[in-house]
Amino acid sequence: MLGAMQDWDLLVTQVIDHAAREASTREIVTHWADGSETRTDWAGIRRDALKMAQALEALGIRKGDRVASLAMNHSRHLVSWYGVAGMGGVLHTINPRLFEDQLEYIANHAEDRVLIYDAAFQPIVDKMKDRWTTIEHYICYDPPEGSDALAFEDWIGAQDGNYEWAKVDERDPCMLCYTSGTTGNPKGVLYEHRSTVLHALAAIQPPAFNFDASSVMLPVVPMFHAASWGLPFAGGMAGIKFVFSAINEPAVLCDLMDREGVTDSAGVPTVWLATFQHCDANDRPLPRLRAATIGGSAAPKFMIRRLMEAGIRVQHAWGMTETSPIGTLGGPTWDWDQLTLDQKVDKAAMQGRPIFGVELRTVDLEDPTKTLPRGGETSGALQIRGPWVIRRYFKADEDALTPDGWFDTGDVAILHPDGTMQITDRTKDVIKSGGEWISSVELENAAAGHPAIAEAAAIGMPHPKWDERPVLFCIRKEGQSVTADDVTEYLKDHVAKWWLPDAVEFVDDIPHTATGKISKKDLRDRFSDYRLP
Ligand code: ADP
Repeated sequence: MLGAMQDWDLLVTQVIDHAAREASTREIVTHWADGSETRTDWAGIRRDALKMAQALEALGIRKGDRVASLAMNHSRHLVSWYGVAGMGGVLHTINPRLFEDQLEYIANHAEDRVLIYDAAFQPIVDKMKDRWTTIEHYICYDPPEGSDALAFEDWIGAQDGNYEWAKVDERDPCMLCYTSGTTGNPKGVLYEHRSTVLHALAAIQPPAFNFDASSVMLPVVPMFHAASWGLPFAGGMAGIKFVFSAINEPAVLCDLMDREGVTDSAGVPTVWLATFQHCDANDRPLPRLRAATIGGSAAPKFMIRRLMEAGIRVQHAWGMTETSPIGTLGGPTWDWDQLTLDQKVDKAAMQGRPIFGVELRTVDLEDPTKTLPRGGETSGALQIRGPWVIRRYFKADEDALTPDGWFDTGDVAILHPDGTMQITDRTKDVIKSGGEWISSVELENAAAGHPAIAEAAAIGMPHPKWDERPVLFCIRKEGQSVTADDVTEYLKDHVAKWWLPDAVEFVDDIPHTATGKISKKDLRDRFSDYRLP
């Protein structure tokens, strides 16, 4: 016997319909690259998305075709998220910080037919045009006066908006995001309408972003990075006010936060660091936020403490492009009010707890058939499953799952009895010394706590007796004269003795990936001839 409830496919278009109906006048503010500001609302976003869907059909774009964007955060980019999905297309958000070869590879691999870009990225378009073999139409979101580029507003402005969303299945794709690929070519993750709606439903809940109608969100995480953590859809579902900035300067962001009554923001740790530096240099208080979400890489304790001391709820989040991206998020725990500030900081420095829809397990690093206990002690390879977790990479021949259906994240983690997940490393970066594991991330985070160190990266170097031993590469802060012995001495208070690096080397720079993470692969390549002292 079947149940007796209505059919309701889970479609992205339902999100924008809901937002335009129930939160029609809730504002969407944009600060543009040229300093100008515009305001629209959810009804306006829907009106434009309908016109965009029509305009795409008029170009001959069909269901399933890929439409790419190369753009920062703004209302026209938001229109595209709904407009492309609304005509059955797939929006491919390209990260403009990718290297040329990667830019060439992903647009061709995705077979993008249209590219809509910010004027700021015109140089990339000019350089790549001949190498992109499938793009037929170029449209500019914000062409400067006198430019001969087709302007987005003119392009959609030619339509009347009298359009009905395309009929699609909830399992049809709506978005394509590539991982930046620290090894090999980038890989595409193809989100579905259903996975996207389920992810957004979970993302707005109190254990996640905790949105309500009064929320005002300024997402600093770019719309091209892991779908801006799903915020453009979650925000529509909760009918929140969005404040977008097409430039990521702390002064602009802080002004916007103050002026627009921003309650929530989200970004990688370096964004918060830049905010601190700006506020300190200009003697201004931190913006009066309710909640700050930090993710993408580990949030350091001093950052968490400072935000908490300013009365801001810290939501340390973990996820990946392959998980839509939210996996875990750290809001308050049941015993939060009984914890001291130190205890809260320690807890928030871990990566939070899985939201409903996400299941985690850790398995033995050497024998993946062995599932590890959740006792808060053993670290293992972190695996995940759920309805918004990848099954297969775009155009791959086989699923990217373990034989029993889990996705291996490539992260190393500890699961704690209260559900908290703690990332300790990446599988490829963890340092194996005498049969035991040393967390490269913990070593470098400890080193980064030294007042004279700007950044640190630890990698394992071959060792005849121990297999591998850690070497720590550090960048000194300007004007500081710290020595290797000082660093080792400092680390003695922060890590186990057998974790202490065999060498501390000072360098002028540490390589990063396009999403701003330390690229251990490049670091290893650079020091492939290195020999331990
Ligand atoms: P990329 O930035 O490489 O394109 P992702 O954004 O998908 O790809 O990166 C996901 C990875 O980032 C995770 O597997 C994990 O290693 C790391 N990561 C994300 N959030 C955190 C966090 N809060 N703490 C530590 N590592 C994190």
